[in-house]
Amino acid sequence: MAVASQDKIQSRAQDISPEEVAGRLACAREAAIQWRRYSLSQRVECLRGFWRQIQAERDEVVDVIHSETGKPISEIQSMEIDGTELILKYFTRNVHRALQDHAAARPWLFLNKRAYVRYVPRGVIGLITPWNMPFLIPFGDMIPALLAGNAVVIKPSEWTTRIALMIESRFIASGLFPEGLLQVMAGGGAVGAKVVEDVDMVVFTGSTSTGRSVAEAAARKLIPCVLELGGLHPMIVAKDAPMRRAVKAAVWGRFANSGQICVGVERVLVEESVYPEFSKGLEAEVAALRQGTSADYETDLGRLIFPGQLEVVLRHLEDARKKGARVIGGEIKDREGLVVSPALILDATPEMLVMREETFGPVLSVMPISCVEDGIQFANEGPHGLAASVWTSDLAQGEEWASRLEAGLLSVNDVLSHYVVCSLPFGGFKQSGLGRRHSDEGLRMFCQQQSVIVHEWPSDVPEIWWFPYSRAKSRLLSFLTKIT
Ligand code: NAD
Repeated sequence: MAVASQDKIQSRAQDISPEEVAGRLACAREAAIQWRRYSLSQRVECLRGFWRQIQAERDEVVDVIHSETGKPISEIQSMEIDGTELILKYFTRNVHRALQDHAAARPWLFLNKRAYVRYVPRGVIGLITPWNMPFLIPFGDMIPALLAGNAVVIKPSEWTTRIALMIESRFIASGLFPEGLLQVMAGGGAVGAKVVEDVDMVVFTGSTSTGRSVAEAAARKLIPCVLELGGLHPMIVAKDAPMRRAVKAAVWGRFANSGQICVGVERVLVEESVYPEFSKGLEAEVAALRQGTSADYETDLGRLIFPGQLEVVLRHLEDARKKGARVIGGEIKDREGLVVSPALILDATPEMLVMREETFGPVLSVMPISCVEDGIQFANEGPHGLAASVWTSDLAQGEEWASRLEAGLLSVNDVLSHYVVCSLPFGGFKQSGLGRRHSDEGLRMFCQQQSVIVHEWPSDVPEIWWFPYSRAKSRLLSFLTKIT
């Protein structure tokens, strides 16, 4: 496994001042007032035009993401950029249907009135985003938030600010949007906390612990808060699983993005009778991975992005070794450059950290289970519930097993597809999240719903339930309610 030379690791971005945050937010608020007057079709055209300009500079976008994260070029192309295009296509094609006024059913007594729901923008949406997908995640939420008629403020991770600033500069340069409609606030947690104080809604993607602080701050302000947090994907492999596909899926599902994917496979639970064959397959696949940080299409995995993550990876590996696991790989190839080779933890046991806490790095843990039922029980323990998968040749049985898993994103014989199948709501159970992005819900959440009733006829006659009350009116009303 070759390891290429390293790019320089980014240093943490400096915080902008609280005054600048406030000034930029005021500017975003002004822009939101203009933007909400654009029709849905105009908003769609502006976003499509902006995306065409981003595509025209695709190579430069790839360079910036590569230098900031060390990701393989193939992954930047497919996950960050093509993934964003799928999201853009979904939302621009579905926004009219999802956000058009829609008639509401009403009781018989109210048939002389029209009732309908309108979707109006919230104002300024704060997106607080992590470092693992620094293009896909900000874009993925900014597209529906803008289509819904809001201004957007992005607080990117302090470790991947350059790509966010590039999006902002191209957004301004496009000349398609009111000035100040998209603002990027560089800095760390303090800037994020200030953003939460001043926006009308916050969508946070990141760790469960920070998510809890953001939810508390949002609760104090009484603003809606959507949280996409950490996961611990259990992949349950039954003895009749399609073995070749399952082995390849475990390796890609873990080592894609160097293991820094919230829905990535963290734990593989394999039925005992196929455990030796499965483990052998994994060893061969992991040994064949090509690691490096050079900008070529033949690299499979790169480096870690956030310096602090290296300590988590090393602590989890050390814990597994101490507790008797067979650890293959996981060597530090370049500490400064954040390169650790892909690690396979075989014969993992339930008490190991890798089975209980998110590693969020290139570490795949495998544990034998006596039967799928035991695997389901183990998978449902603990606070996480983002993604889970089951692997079997019996699809009906697989769907039944999957239905018993406590996770928001379930797969049978598949991994990591949900994010780009945007018609599906995306989010977690338990401490893996609150609310859902994507689907119609993912557009409507960026709006306030207005419920409208219009009395149509007879035009100048009072309702019988208005004053003055009487026994006869009361009886008539009860009768009408019963037959309605
Ligand atoms: P993090 O929680 O450390 O930081 C996320 C963002 O929050 C950063 O921009 C950070 O500056 C900001 N922040 C920190 N303190 C804040 C505060 N008090 N108020 C407001 N903002 C604050 O997470 P990370 O290390 O950047 O990302 C890794 C984590 O993200 C992993 O746990 C991973 O599972 C999770 N993640 C989840 C999803 C998902 O969709 N569920 C997607 C990607 C990553």
